[in-house]
Parts: sequence; C-alpha cells; structure tokens
Amino acid sequence: MASKRRTIALFGGTFDPVHFGHLRMALELRQALGFGEMRLLPSHRPRHRESPGVSAVHRREMLSLALRGCDELSMDDRELVRGGDTYTVDTLEQLRGELGDGVSVSFCMGLDSLLTLPAWHRWERLLELAHLVVVARPGWRMPRKGDGGAEAEVAELLARRAGEVEHLHSEPGGRLVVREQTLLPISATDIRNLISGGQSPRFLLPAAVLQYIEDNQLYRQAAPAAGK
Ligand code: ATP
Repeated sequence: MASKRRTIALFGGTFDPVHFGHLRMALELRQALGFGEMRLLPSHRPRHRESPGVSAVHRREMLSLALRGCDELSMDDRELVRGGDTYTVDTLEQLRGELGDGVSVSFCMGLDSLLTLPAWHRWERLLELAHLVVVARPGWRMPRKGDGGAEAEVAELLARRAGEVEHLHSEPGGRLVVREQTLLPISATDIRNLISGGQSPRFLLPAAVLQYIEDNQLYRQAAPAAGK
C-alpha cells in the first residue's frame, strides 16, 4: 500500500511563452500520478537548447498570470532567481537540501529530452536525487539495447532504473517511470512565429498571457534576441 510520503513533481521548461500544452500536461500528470504538488520550473538559460527569446522577468510574469486562480499548479522560480546557466542537477541538489531525504521528488520530461540526457551536466546524479517521469506520446518508440550512441546509454538506464507509478509514492527517488500521454499540438515556437508573422495565437494560450504579450509587444521580431 502506498505510504503518506509527501510527493512533489517538477515540470521544467523555458515557457517562452507558457501555453495550454504545458498547462494541460502538468495538470494531467498531477492528476494521473497523484502528486501532492506540481511545480512548473522555468529555466534561466538551459545549456542543451537555444536561449529563451524574452527575459526571465517576462517569462516569470507570464507563468504567474497563467497560474492565477489555479490551485493545482504552482511555480518554482529558483532557476530564474539563481540566474546564469541552468543545470537541473543544481536545482535538485538545492531542493533535496531543503526537503530532506524522505520527500519524493519527480522531475518530469518529454521523451525527446530523455534522449539527450547523457549530455546533461552530471546526469547520473539526477537519479540519485529524484525520480524521472518521462512522458511519451502514444506510438513513440523507447530506446532499446542495441541502439547506438546516447540511445544505448538511455536504454541501459531504463533497464536498470525502470519503475512503476507506485514507486513515486513509496520511494523518494531513483526510478525512471514512463507515462504515455497525448500532447496538445501546441508549441511555443509556433506561437512566436504566429506573432512575428502578424497573426494571432489566440486559443493556444491563456488570454491573460496573450494580453501581457500584446501590452509588452513581445515576440514581434522573427529572430529571437538571445539571453535577457
Ligand atoms: P519551444 O517551441 O520553444 O521549444 P515548447 O513549447 O516545446 O517550446 P518548452 O518550454 O521548451 O516548450 O517545454 C517545456 C516542457 O513542456 C518540455 O518538457 C516539453 O517537452 C513540454 N511540452 C512542450 N510542448 C508541449 C505540449 N504541446 N504538450 C505537452 N508538453 C509540452
């Protein structure tokens, strides 16, 4: 039987801008996996992708507008506060230091991110600090032993660390749980392209976020200006 362990899930991203795909995914994960808390974790400057197009201040403000009145989701802005290059392992170490060893922490990521995991800073430490919940679109193929390069490393990790949803409640970390879930076909890239092309992204993101984008004239330039 599952214990009453506190369970915290983190859903990381640049949220540039936050949209309904992110929000639905976070809410469905919380509901389906029974997390006590689901925190959206905006990254400052992720090393494994392009820098966000707008400042940390704007991205935090848009996320907080999106979450206004939503009790099921919250924001953890520690990576923006820390600044500089964002390393997930630093975030999880900091969180572990605050929460102690008993709390269950789950870091949620898409399968596309999992495939890049061996390139992340101190990636093997991540599973000592937290569970990884990997969201796979239905029909996606998981890496297998016999695949080459990074995929083989990920397949080996899957074989060693694979767990079930129950483990997210009974253990503080260390498991890799795959969850199949349909994603809304929305991306921040498409939203930025719509705006820079003079078209409306209405109904892809919360109205308050769109209003903020318009008020601050964000994403009007086609090429994102890197950094802050
Ligand atoms: P971009 O288009 O700039 O790459 P994005 O829309 O993919 O942005 P990110 O902020 O990079 O958003 O992603 C944050 C997290 O949300 C990632 O784990 C990503 O896999 C996930 N995600 C992105 N789009 C969706 C979606 N439509 N539904 C569910 N999850 C999504």
